[in-house]
Amino acid sequence: MKALVFDDALRFDPRRPEPAAADGDTLIRVHQAGVCSTDLEITRGYMSYRGILGHEFVGTVVDSPDAALVGQRVCGEINCPCGRCDLCRSGLSNHCRERTVLGILNHDGAFADHVRLPATNLHVLPAGVDDDRAVFVEPLAAAFQITRQLRLDSKTWVTVLGDGRLGLLVAQVLRNAGCPVRMIGKHAEKMALCEKWQIRSRGLNDIAPRHDQDVVVDCTGSAAGFELAMRLVRPRGTIVLKSTVAQGIPLNLAPLVIDEVTVLGSRCGPFGEAIRALADDAVDVLSLVHKRMKLEQGVEAMELAGRPGVMKVILTM
Ligand SMILES: [Zn+2]
Repeated sequence: MKALVFDDALRFDPRRPEPAAADGDTLIRVHQAGVCSTDLEITRGYMSYRGILGHEFVGTVVDSPDAALVGQRVCGEINCPCGRCDLCRSGLSNHCRERTVLGILNHDGAFADHVRLPATNLHVLPAGVDDDRAVFVEPLAAAFQITRQLRLDSKTWVTVLGDGRLGLLVAQVLRNAGCPVRMIGKHAEKMALCEKWQIRSRGLNDIAPRHDQDVVVDCTGSAAGFELAMRLVRPRGTIVLKSTVAQGIPLNLAPLVIDEVTVLGSRCGPFGEAIRALADDAVDVLSLVHKRMKLEQGVEAMELAGRPGVMKVILTM
């Protein structure tokens, strides 16, 4: 099959072996898949991953131990837990000690003609969530995770740092949660999108951090984002970290102690809520599609997705 592989270098492989069958898993023919900043970070060394990239996908089930799934259009959760360890048994299977993660940790990803996942990871998509919307289910679920971790209401002043792919989803989800949301970004066209969505936005160079935000969500994908977040958050406020950055920089963490700031890591979230929001058109994702490219152009597509200001690049199989 065709696949986009990272093994020290990124390359398109026209004759990659089909993924090997494992007990109880389901074979999916991938229709299309979205390029995520995590994919780009992996090519810079994040997670030391080697294999087929890609974890935001939509496809059709070809073969499954769950006969009802065959022929269904699905997207899939990316964590594959062992089901036996202490974390799995305590209900934290997304944090399973033995987990594999689609396209990120010991599990070939979805930038390929076919992908395998346990049937329990799959979500059947309603007709209203077409393939272009469906590739956003995984990152949108990650945005919804914040609403599970924090109590948010109309009095919670939120700043979203970073007007990239994930930041623009987070801002919409938190607006829908009723919070006064402000986006801080760098790109005029993203600011125009925020205006269309009735989300206030400011240019990075136009702000004066005043330690007055209840919640600051760092979606910058850069190590510098956290430093700015520390200057924006109020004492006893919360910084939510959404970026996975391979690069490490020295940081003075004393402000977190002095201001008694809570730092909250936030990763994968509820697919059901994301699918419902897309079916209800509560979140605009189609405005985030930058370009569709064939899997054969995967190397070029990744390079494009890494350019400043470029939104979602979709690979079609
Ligand atoms: Zn486990």
